[in-house]
Amino acid sequence: MSSEQKKTDIILIGAGVMSATLGALLKELAPEWEIKVFEKLAGAGEESSNEWNNAGTGHAALCELNYTSEKYDGSIDISKAVKINEQFQLSRQFWSYLVERNLIRHPQDFIMPLPHMSWVQGEKDVSYLNRRFKALSKNPLFQGMEYSDDPAKLKEWIPLMMEGRTSNEPVAATKIDSGTDVNFGALTRLLFDHLKSQNVEINYKHGIKDIKRTSDGMWKVKVHNLDNGKIEYHTAKFVFIGAGGGSLSLLQKTGIPESKHIGGFPVSGLFMVCHNPEVVAQHHAKVYGKAKLGAPPMSVPHLDTRYIGNQKALLFGPFAGFSPKFLKTGSNLDLIGSVKPNNLLTMLAAGVKEMSLTKYLIQQLMLSNEQRMDEIREFIPNAKSADWSMVAAGQRVQVIKDTEGGKGTLQFGTEVVSAADGSVAALLGASPGASTAVHVMLEVLEKCFPQHIKQWEPKIKEMIPSYGVSLEDNPELLQEILASLTQTLGLSEKEPQTTP
Ligand SMILES: Cc1cc2nc3c(=O)[nH]c(=O)nc-3n(C[C@H](O)[C@H](O)[C@H](O)COP(=O)(O)OP(=O)(O)OC[C@H]3O[C@@H](n4cnc5c(N)ncnc54)[C@H](O)[C@@H]3O)c2cc1C
Repeated sequence: MSSEQKKTDIILIGAGVMSATLGALLKELAPEWEIKVFEKLAGAGEESSNEWNNAGTGHAALCELNYTSEKYDGSIDISKAVKINEQFQLSRQFWSYLVERNLIRHPQDFIMPLPHMSWVQGEKDVSYLNRRFKALSKNPLFQGMEYSDDPAKLKEWIPLMMEGRTSNEPVAATKIDSGTDVNFGALTRLLFDHLKSQNVEINYKHGIKDIKRTSDGMWKVKVHNLDNGKIEYHTAKFVFIGAGGGSLSLLQKTGIPESKHIGGFPVSGLFMVCHNPEVVAQHHAKVYGKAKLGAPPMSVPHLDTRYIGNQKALLFGPFAGFSPKFLKTGSNLDLIGSVKPNNLLTMLAAGVKEMSLTKYLIQQLMLSNEQRMDEIREFIPNAKSADWSMVAAGQRVQVIKDTEGGKGTLQFGTEVVSAADGSVAALLGASPGASTAVHVMLEVLEKCFPQHIKQWEPKIKEMIPSYGVSLEDNPELLQEILASLTQTLGLSEKEPQTTP
């Protein structure tokens, strides 16, 4: 078949939560546009978005201490926490819109209410947590947060973590009941089912090999059909590269100036999981601790209740590690293959700067299971090795780029890189990740479709009432939105019924 016959409006590369979100937004805003999806694996949400490959935290900065840094004068900077919370509210509003209109069903399959807690030990960190609590609890976005350094209260909140704790060291925690556990794998699959019902052509087992601009300004995509081994060509006016860890290499193939001088640094992850119903029943929260000295922000240890496949489990981790692969299903040549003449100096600079991080990741990789159990015992003093097993999580490719801070600077956030004419965009980076998918995909729409965004605005506001508005400054709107989405997404239930 000639490429002429395979023209389309939009191509989405990758069937993760990001492409799913962009596809779902576009289907509401421009339903007449033809969309095709190409995914190299056999189904949707199989890489980082899969429920076992990420921690499933609805990141709203309710418990993650790395979003609230301490300033020189001892006060706490909450600006990043506010930003992330506002971004997560956008996701929840869009999911609520989709559920309300029956476009996706059964919200309990992908989002569950779960208290979010921060946990610290030692005088210095207890004082920090107390100041953080005082700064956040005044803000309407963090309403309902509680603080305690009373062991009896903490025993009520986190019995599993308090039992067998012998040290006299001060401990403290904050707790907020409006946190969530999100099954991003289930959400991704629901969104792709919805897209399929809206006539989006979804091609699994189709890997993208190349992307080139055509003489008429469109993009020609070379696709390897992994079922029959054939090569196909498809052209589109707009291509979104939502290939997760595979995005950098595809972005480099576009040759756009914006793709230059960017590199990627892969960080692998491991979780320890516990399915013992007796242990699982004693914990009901996501409890985030403080990152160890020298540890990157994405390896903050946490002990989480997870709802996966209607079952409750406990997950502890992540233990970071080093692997040259950019995807869990990737190749050991991914890292070396990403080094190009235009990013060689950037990558070398990062290599020199990040020696201690690489050393840390390799040390983490070398940990024995018993050493990992010792880290679990800092959270659960009586943890038994027989109750815990290891699961490999997804890969996170952190962006390396030249910034004002110098050449080859490692970035821990997500970045949308797009062509000046908005005809192609790629999503790089991994944090805060899936939770902020709606915010990030709205950014793609704003950057790539400036000619449509004004006309789309009323519909965006219908779907996401806080679009373009600060909820922090509009507590009444916040209350209205929370009341509505709590009901639609079923977030008011106390302890949901599942089999441990
Ligand atoms: C250990 C870990 C913990 C995390 N914890 C959280 C958390 O608690 N909360 C949170 O919000 N986020 C978390 N994240 C981040 C979150 O998982 C990611 O941000 C999100 O899943 C990324 O979605 P995506 O669609 O960009 O990528 P993916 O889900 O990886 O999807 C990309 C898809 O592209 C496909 N693909 C790649 N190359 C090609 C190609 N050449 N052709 C065709 N298809 C291709 C892949 O097979 C894959 O299916 C975590 C990530 C990790 C690794």
